[in-house]
Amino acid sequence: MDGEVILVAEGITKKFGGLVALNKVDVVIRKGERHVMIGPNGSGKTTFINVVTGVYQPDEGNIRLQDEEITRLPPHKITEKGIGRTFQNIRLFGSMTVWENIAVGMHCRTQSGLIEVLLRLGREREERKIIEKKIREISYFLGLDKVLNQNVRSLPYGKQRIVEIGRAMATDPKMLILDEPAAGMNSQEVVELATIIKKISQLGITVLLIEHNMEFVKDIADRITVLDAGQKIAEGNFEEIQSHPKVVEAYLGT
Ligand code: ADP
Repeated sequence: MDGEVILVAEGITKKFGGLVALNKVDVVIRKGERHVMIGPNGSGKTTFINVVTGVYQPDEGNIRLQDEEITRLPPHKITEKGIGRTFQNIRLFGSMTVWENIAVGMHCRTQSGLIEVLLRLGREREERKIIEKKIREISYFLGLDKVLNQNVRSLPYGKQRIVEIGRAMATDPKMLILDEPAAGMNSQEVVELATIIKKISQLGITVLLIEHNMEFVKDIADRITVLDAGQKIAEGNFEEIQSHPKVVEAYLGT
């Protein structure tokens, strides 16, 4: 497949005690693509994105973001390099507003620390203007502009997940990693999420996500990597994956 490569993960092995969660996994992700990682429960998907985002250190292998080695950098450095992420379970500040939660994502891009971004706004007028403009842009883009001043906890679940995407976008990512973004959403919310993810990739942001909902995967995936028991068993577009014997076997257990 043509196109500029943005992320290369080579020979990634991650063990937890005697358990090999990832076994020499290679993944190449191209700039601007929507790349979906699928596989049965326990196949190593979340471990893979935790290794890419610096939450776990791999036992073997290396990761390059646009030719720069990022293996073993701490998570905040990887965010600074341009990888933003959301988590499987929502990790927002429920009693804070949507505005404040998106602002939290910005502190890695401003001179101020997190607390300053939230408390000292108004003193640093120039910085405040930049932050406000950015939050307005992100909220319009994601359809959150009408709820900016609401507490996150008061929003429907699907909207809370979009706020998480907003917070990750505030880090100015080249690549956005979403861990099961459609989990727990109703069908209308899933349709809206698909539209948002397509709009994000139209901005030139590469998207890597883990997903179980195959209708959703079919709708959005340019390319799919399939893991099973810590190994990559297939890679391709939806049609190629769907008929791949190893994938059929992994899912049906035959
Ligand atoms: P998936 O996301 O595909 O469901 P995971 O990456 O969460 O799979 O898990 C892969 C394997 O690694 C599983 O057997 C899981 O129990 C194990 N695992 C994941 N994280 C840890 C951890 N922090 N400590 C021990 N084992 C873990």
